[in-house]
Amino acid sequence: MDFQLTDEHELIRQTARRIAREVIAPRAAALDETGEYPEDIYQTFKEYGLLGLNFPEEYGGSGAGTLGLGLAVEEVAKVDNSCALMLLLTKLSTSAIMRGGTEEQKRKYGQGTALGEVRGAFGLTEPGAGSDSAQIRTKAVKDGDHYRLTGTKHWISGGTVADFYLVAAKTTPDAGSKGFTMFIVDRDTPGFRVGKTDRKMGVHGVPTCELIFDEAKVPAANIVGEVDKGFKLLMWNLNSVRPIVAARGLGTAEGAIQYAVDYAKTRETFGEPIIKHQAIQMMIADVAMRIEAARWLTYNACLTVDAGHADKEHAHILSIAKAFASETAVQAADTAVQILGGNGYMMDHPVERYYRDARQLTIVEGTSQVQRLIIARNVEEDVLNWR
Ligand SMILES: Cc1cc2nc3c(=O)[nH]c(=O)nc-3n(C[C@H](O)[C@H](O)[C@H](O)COP(=O)(O)OP(=O)(O)OC[C@H]3O[C@@H](n4cnc5c(N)ncnc54)[C@H](O)[C@@H]3O)c2cc1C
Repeated sequence: MDFQLTDEHELIRQTARRIAREVIAPRAAALDETGEYPEDIYQTFKEYGLLGLNFPEEYGGSGAGTLGLGLAVEEVAKVDNSCALMLLLTKLSTSAIMRGGTEEQKRKYGQGTALGEVRGAFGLTEPGAGSDSAQIRTKAVKDGDHYRLTGTKHWISGGTVADFYLVAAKTTPDAGSKGFTMFIVDRDTPGFRVGKTDRKMGVHGVPTCELIFDEAKVPAANIVGEVDKGFKLLMWNLNSVRPIVAARGLGTAEGAIQYAVDYAKTRETFGEPIIKHQAIQMMIADVAMRIEAARWLTYNACLTVDAGHADKEHAHILSIAKAFASETAVQAADTAVQILGGNGYMMDHPVERYYRDARQLTIVEGTSQVQRLIIARNVEEDVLNWR
């Protein structure tokens, strides 16, 4: 496969890099400390067209695809993971809509997201159902030309600032994954409200919160795809976003280890910079190997989605990238803390923030264990075709 970036992709990378360095990096520590959602940075993304990277031109985007979005997310994650998540949410809240939605839904929520007119969040997880998403209990009952949604979602990224929510609910509760339907819920829907905001370890700039549905009255026109057939769309949504989680991991790893390398060039022990100590060099080399592998896995996963393959047969490609790159981020941030020694543990340096932020990545959108289940299933079914 040819990974040569097009001029357009290179331009996206350079633009995102400049915004990351000049606008986001100076704010990153404060965002972490205050937990304040950076509205001005969202507006900067809007101004430079970064919210529309993943959308076709006919829907207000730039047509740069998953790879274009991934490159931007990587650059932003090098300096701040919350702002990288803001970009990721443009895809997480709309992927199923762009795949299975009506023309009207694509215009209102897809194009609206691309142009920065509306922003969305994705609501799947519940207090009683995470990895085992077929166990969700939020139910949707038909009521004339509406559905009444009842249930609670929790830990929803960007939920506090969203205008709409892409929500999974059960229309046939006893049918397991066959009773799923995807809904778009507008924020001002009667019977819906945003619940408590969570206290969490990292990624403080994008709050997570509860979504509470109390017989929320959602028009049947807001169903994405077909009633009871939402599970496939849900999986498509998750699969197609995994390369972008991988891009967050890749950027986090690069940002953390680069900081540690710069530090190691100036910190001296036993008469020389610590970067001259072989033990430090081995740690850096171990991370470098993983970063370069993660880069190819991530870009390949992005291109796989851009080729229209976010289905079960290609799921291992996306899961491998997600698991490997997110675990690379954890390893790189951990190594960076170690290389900085005591300074790594102090809040005067950003590596402890990278460490806390990286920890999210092996959990969200399918834990590392769940990714391995997906990979192992496709291996077992001979999808990888090693014979
Ligand atoms: C900061 C943050 C932001 C999030 N944002 C969103 C969001 O925007 N929208 C949303 O819907 N959700 C969101 N989530 C939820 C996230 O997707 C879930 O946390 C994740 O899917 C795992 O579910 P769980 O936490 O309930 O873990 P559980 O499913 O309870 O799993 C617990 C442990 O058991 C392991 N495990 C589970 N099943 C198996 C198995 N079969 N084999 C081996 N091991 C297994 C898991 O890997 C994990 O280690 C967010 C979570 C966090 C922490």
